[in-house]
Amino acid sequence: MKTVLTNCTVIDGTGQPPRKDMSLVIEGDRIIELKAGKYGPPAGEGERVLDLEGGYVLPGLWNVHVHLGDLIPDPQFLLETESPIDYAIRAGRNAMDALRAGIMGIRIVGEDHYADFAWKRAFDAGVFVGPRIFACGRAISITGGHGHGTLGALEVDGPFEMRKAVREQLKQGADQIKLMVTGGVMTAGEGMEESQFLLDEILAATEVAHQKGRRVCVHAWGAAGIKTAIQGGVDTVEHGLLDDEIIEMMVERGVFYVPTLNCTQDKEKILEGGLPDFMVEKALGAAEAHLEGFQKALGAGVKIACGADTSPVTDFTLLEIEHLVRAGMSEMEALVAATRTSADLCGVVDRLGTVEVGKLADLIVLLADPLEDISNARKLKLVLKAGRLVDIKPQEGQADFWELFF
Ligand SMILES: [Zn+2]
Repeated sequence: MKTVLTNCTVIDGTGQPPRKDMSLVIEGDRIIELKAGKYGPPAGEGERVLDLEGGYVLPGLWNVHVHLGDLIPDPQFLLETESPIDYAIRAGRNAMDALRAGIMGIRIVGEDHYADFAWKRAFDAGVFVGPRIFACGRAISITGGHGHGTLGALEVDGPFEMRKAVREQLKQGADQIKLMVTGGVMTAGEGMEESQFLLDEILAATEVAHQKGRRVCVHAWGAAGIKTAIQGGVDTVEHGLLDDEIIEMMVERGVFYVPTLNCTQDKEKILEGGLPDFMVEKALGAAEAHLEGFQKALGAGVKIACGADTSPVTDFTLLEIEHLVRAGMSEMEALVAATRTSADLCGVVDRLGTVEVGKLADLIVLLADPLEDISNARKLKLVLKAGRLVDIKPQEGQADFWELFF
């Protein structure tokens, strides 16, 4: 099956200027041709031509900091009361909604009940149509550390327990390993600046993960904890209150940064979110340092990817992309962060993340120019996954995610 997209502007995700009046040929699941001008011959047999009427073709969007089953706030106390099966169903719905909004690659950085691996298998096998999942399984924290008691976090101490925990995630099919190396917003009784894992524990994790060719990502706010993590060989830093020394280390070692800006910058969402006071205080208290570190990292050329942390994935991915722009990225830089750099962080930029010949045809078509106004990323016309059209209309009879769970 050949699909031709014609009469469109291509924003290819590499950061190159947009190309107007283009045609794009997809054969099977791959892009085989990109050329200027309208597509010439009428559709032949086994060929469909889609006139995009001046629409904008981009790579599918990515969110590389996701917890599919998390709920913030959780007014119905579902996380405390629901069964693992209810949890998994809600997580799957969250993922499938994201695909229908054009979010086609997600990295899940800590999930309960191994629901991330189950949905990954289901989507890969075509049981349901969903986004491409890169999964970490259970996040790993110190005893009593950040995130303990939530989302299936494993509590381990010492390099031996760490090796065991990492190997267990790899056995289950982990694409990356997630460590909690400092305190955070959502756990009581700890400061965000507090360091948690020690160097020997982090080294044990990276040694075992790298042996299998897998990357290690870390939840990390405090500067001391981030430096220990980078010394310990981690590959991606999430959140982060970055200082000059950290930024230098990240550039030198090619460490990725996933700022999750909305977690501190979206004052409205934070205040309206129904969070306990201690969480609101921590989030807003870190806002200035978080933004400052992000801007320095951007200026220094740190590889910055797009991750939103909060669910629903659809709403918060689009919000995070907007925050990247508000915080100082150009619209083009934000789009590259949410496409190519995020695919690179997941280790698949050789086949995903840009609109180029030879790549898988994971594409979105927008009705308006996102370079003019980044919020135009919300004006979706079409989604194609591996060259196949995804039905993006809300299904009749299906309730809204917000109404169901918030
Ligand atoms: Zn997170």
